Amino acid sequence: MRALTVTPGVKNSIKLDQIDTPNPTSSQALLRVQEIGICGTDLDINQGFYGEAPPGSNYLVTGHESLARVESILSNAYGISKGDLVVPTVRRPDSCMNCLNGESDMCLTGNYREHGIKRLHGFGSDFAVSDVGFLVKVPSKLADVGSRRDRYSYKGQC
Ligand SMILES: [Zn+2]
Repeated sequence: MRALTVTPGVKNSIKLDQIDTPNPTSSQALLRVQEIGICGTDLDINQGFYGEAPPGSNYLVTGHESLARVESILSNAYGISKGDLVVPTVRRPDSCMNCLNGESDMCLTGNYREHGIKRLHGFGSDFAVSDVGFLVKVPSKLADVGSRRDRYSYKGQC
């Protein structure tokens, strides 16, 4: 599949690459990415300021803002099914007290992971995986809002 990748720490390393389609675990969904956003964080990653590849990988798939359609998913308690439009959130908590209490923005250790930024591949690819519990279902009639298309003319977002 196609993927926008960078070599973390290397300036201007972004490229359109060909990589294997990811295989979701039983707690993940396979997503067909519809749209991605590009923000200052992505530009900083391409400048080599930060970004961290997943363990065992020498590249990072970029893109942390996305709108996707569920390609495959197992039965789950979140009410998300194949074909649903979703926005996967970016951060995946670690096991610190705040993360365990659903407040990963207040992570005490900094050992969280973030899709497209830190130790998890992002969504800048034809397909991506995400933990099912971190998918936000978007009604089809709100697809334009979910993609943040209406905000592209604003500066300083994200
Ligand atoms: Zn934490």
